[in-house]
Amino acid sequence: MKKVLILEDEVNIRSFVVINLRRAGYEVLEAGTGAEALEKLRQNPDVGVAILDIMLPDIDGFEVCRNIRATDKKIGIIMLTARSQEMDKITGLMTGADDYMTKPFSPAELTARIDALYRRIGNDPTADSVELCHGPFVLNTRNRTLDKEGRRIKLTQVEYAIMKLFMQNPGRALSREDILAAVWGRDYDGELKIVDVNIRRLRIKIEDDTANPTYITTVWGYGYKWGA
Ligand code: CA
Repeated sequence: MKKVLILEDEVNIRSFVVINLRRAGYEVLEAGTGAEALEKLRQNPDVGVAILDIMLPDIDGFEVCRNIRATDKKIGIIMLTARSQEMDKITGLMTGADDYMTKPFSPAELTARIDALYRRIGNDPTADSVELCHGPFVLNTRNRTLDKEGRRIKLTQVEYAIMKLFMQNPGRALSREDILAAVWGRDYDGELKIVDVNIRRLRIKIEDDTANPTYITTVWGYGYKWGA
């Protein structure tokens, strides 16, 4: 089971995160101070991702992050920030962290970020499986190919990456921002529209009826989902 630690002194936010991550199938450790978080991580070296609030009663989240990184290069670290306006300041300090999230955030956003991190750091127990199967589709991650009912569908590298993201997250609503970040990378400076353009092209290739897509479904005002 994927093991995650949440460090947050505000009990309401911490409980919200804990409840939602447990519901999503993670084993969750919680800490209310930086010292407590470091102690729990020492006792649980198998934690794959740590979520660190920045404003804490003892040492701040950046200090906790530096402490973790001093001994553990592999763990994924997500910083929680209070406001997006603070990001300029924060990114400068964020050495050692892999990702950040601005409060408030949705449970779906959080689990998507954790899953993405797990994949990137290679701790995902399902990452080694070569084939992802769903309905008529088989995605082969070694050959980077997609078959539908045994017939090869020719995909661009971007389309392949989107399909892989979907098939690794069946039934989960992915925001256009999530898709952009996962496929194009977080440093990509382009527009969200590029996501829609590629989804439209993918639908033509994979859907039975492009006008009524059943595999890549639209989540109105948010993004897309693999499956209904
Ligand atoms: Ca706090």
